[in-house]
Amino acid sequence: MKNDIEKILLTKEEIQDKVKMIGEQISQDYKDKTPVLVCILKGGVIFLSDLMKHISIPINIDFMSVSSYGDSTKSSGVVKIKKDIDIDISNRHVLIIEDIVDSGLTLKYINNYFTNHNVASVKLCALLDKPEAHKSDLDIDYLGFEVGNEFVVGYGLDYAQEYRNLPYIGILKKEIYK
Ligand code: 5GP
Repeated sequence: MKNDIEKILLTKEEIQDKVKMIGEQISQDYKDKTPVLVCILKGGVIFLSDLMKHISIPINIDFMSVSSYGDSTKSSGVVKIKKDIDIDISNRHVLIIEDIVDSGLTLKYINNYFTNHNVASVKLCALLDKPEAHKSDLDIDYLGFEVGNEFVVGYGLDYAQEYRNLPYIGILKKEIYK
């Protein structure tokens, strides 16, 4: 798996330091509240599980699965809910946990979806952002890193369902793409 990586963009240590900082910030901002962290599957899984260990206030977690990408590296622009959350989020503070914002279409859709559910608040937390690729206005309340407009893998992010278990974030060698 390591041999398929052209370049490491973010090391395990850089990611861990940043995730800790975000967790501490969330703990401060939501003091006296019990937010619901909604992780967007599957890419957000490692981020959520590392992040929640650095949150020192009570939280709930839930999961949502949406489709916006197949096995290709291009956004389809189509967002469909494949698995909805289980928790009743009425009057709750919702924090959406996403791996990466590319066009922004997925987060925009999910953000609107929750806003229409009578919640107390909705905020967005993404590990990575590709500002050059945005096709929609979006404020990310908690952001790890900005990356260029290139396809990245690792730390939850896949290519054709592989590479999610890499502890760092990198770019694949060109010959890997089929
Ligand atoms: P958006 O709707 O913002 O265009 O796409 C967001 C989703 O596309 C992310 O949650 C992620 O699943 C996928 N995605 C976007 N860019 C990348 C990338 O560079 N690498 C990987 N592995 N997935 C990406």
